Amino acid sequence: MKTMQKISPTRPKAFLIDLDGTLYFKGEPYPGAIETVDYLRREGYQLRFLTNTTAKTPKMLHEQMHVLGFTLYEDEIFNATYACLQYLRSQPKVHCHFMVDDAVKAFFQEIPIDDDAPDFVVVGDYGEGFDFRALNHAFRLLINGAELIALQKGLYWFSSDGMFLDCGAFVTLLETAAGKTAKVMGKPSETFFNLALESLQCSLSEVIMVGDDITSDIVGAQTMKMQSVLVKTGKFKSEQLEAPVAEPTWVLKDVSELAQLF
Ligand SMILES: [Mg+2]
Repeated sequence: MKTMQKISPTRPKAFLIDLDGTLYFKGEPYPGAIETVDYLRREGYQLRFLTNTTAKTPKMLHEQMHVLGFTLYEDEIFNATYACLQYLRSQPKVHCHFMVDDAVKAFFQEIPIDDDAPDFVVVGDYGEGFDFRALNHAFRLLINGAELIALQKGLYWFSSDGMFLDCGAFVTLLETAAGKTAKVMGKPSETFFNLALESLQCSLSEVIMVGDDITSDIVGAQTMKMQSVLVKTGKFKSEQLEAPVAEPTWVLKDVSELAQLF
């Protein structure tokens, strides 16, 4: 792992930046985060924002980031919901049973629904929808042959009023009970990174992933053979560096330190 003094041998052309836990936390921007995004843009870096947040569409995320004070563009935002729609469009048979909230379900309006014998059970952020009846129904659909799609597999997230179970906890429950492995749409899946990379004109060595989650952001970057920055905010825990599941290229106190490195 490199320290702050080391500058990348090749100047990067683009940054892939996580949102929750990296640019904002519990509904508030991190100090200096808004200015850092503006700085990187002024310096001529291309920016893409990769988030596993699945309760919102890219349009809703864009609005949320705008309200927080960030200047970013809708077509720079890639989330697992968008990645899932692209994946389903590529499949020959796509009848789905959705476990996602209504706004996200509307985003999938072109996909045919079948709640009795679907090809896929699609699980995203479903909040209180994850009750026994809904989970047991999904379990039976999986046992009867449906494949399982997870928008992402995060186990928990932070809100201003405490921690919440995330959809990955319920995906894991369904995988265990039905003996199936979910196809994951968000980070760290290569397909997800490739969606964002296809929109950039640069090679992998010119892109740096920045995020707070070693299991999704840094594992994903390592799989893609990209350099990465782990920020010590959001989900970061210092014990994760003792036997890391992936090696970040840099570890920074927070996202604002990017301006000193690049
Ligand atoms: Mg994060």
